[in-house]
Amino acid sequence: MARRFNRILLKLSGEALMGPGQFGIDQETVAAMASEVKAAKDAGFELCLVIGGGNIFRGMAGAAKGMDRAQADYMGMLATVMNALAVQNALEQIGVDTRVQSAIKMDQVCEPVIRRRAERHLAKGRVVIFAAGVGSPYFTTDTGAALRAAEMKCNALFKGTSVDGVYSADPKKVKDAKRFDTIGFDRVLAEDLKIMDAAAVALCRDNDIPIVVFNVRQPGNLAKVLAGEGVATIVQ
Ligand code: UDP
Repeated sequence: MARRFNRILLKLSGEALMGPGQFGIDQETVAAMASEVKAAKDAGFELCLVIGGGNIFRGMAGAAKGMDRAQADYMGMLATVMNALAVQNALEQIGVDTRVQSAIKMDQVCEPVIRRRAERHLAKGRVVIFAAGVGSPYFTTDTGAALRAAEMKCNALFKGTSVDGVYSADPKKVKDAKRFDTIGFDRVLAEDLKIMDAAAVALCRDNDIPIVVFNVRQPGNLAKVLAGEGVATIVQ
C-alpha cells in the first residue's frame, strides 16, 4: 500500500485501552496507544482520534439488564469522554499537543465539537480527540468516527483492531480464513463482515472514505501501515 493519506482519523475501541484486564483503563496500554499516535504524527500525518467506551460501559449491555436504552447510551457516551481524557493525558506526557472536543457539552472538561476550531488545531500540529460519539443515543462511536472523518475531510478512517485486517471468517476460530488486501464496501455490508457497524460503513461508502483495518496492538504498526509497509485491509 503506497502512501496516499495526509490526514487520517484513527478509531480505537474502548477495548484498545483495556490491556490484559476485562474492564477499564490500563495506563500502560494507553501509553502504548499514545506512542503509536506520536509515531504517526512524527511521520508528518495529521491525526483525528475517536475512542470508544466499551471498556467502561455499553448502552446495549445496560439495556439488556433492563435499563432504558437511551439513558444507558448517554452513560456510554460519558465513558468515551473518560477514555478521551486518558488518551489526552498519555499523549501530552510524551509531548504531543492535543485537544478533546466532545459532542456533549462539558465546558469544564473539554471543548465542544466545533469543526472550524478543530481545523485550526490540526493546522497547529495538535491531535484532535473527538469524544461522545455523535452525541445521540442509538449510535456508536464507529458512526461517530465515520461522521468526523467526513466532516474533517480525512483521507481515510483507520480502524485499529486486534487482527491485521478483514478475513473471510474469524481468523481466531477458522484456521484457513483468508485475509483480503482490499474489499468493497458493498461486500462488507452484504456479507455483514462486522468491521464496523453498518451505518458507519455506509457513511464511509457514501463519502468515499476508505476504511483501513489494521492491528493496532503490534508496536509500530500504525506508522508502518501509514508508510505503506504494513499489513492491512483497505475497504474501498
Ligand atoms: N454511544 C451512543 N452514541 C454515540 C456513541 C456512543 O449512544 O454516538 C454509546 C453507546 O451506548 C455505546 C457506548 O456509547 O455502546 C460506547 O461506545 P461504543 O460501543 O461505540 O464503543 P467501542 O465499542 O468502540 O468501545
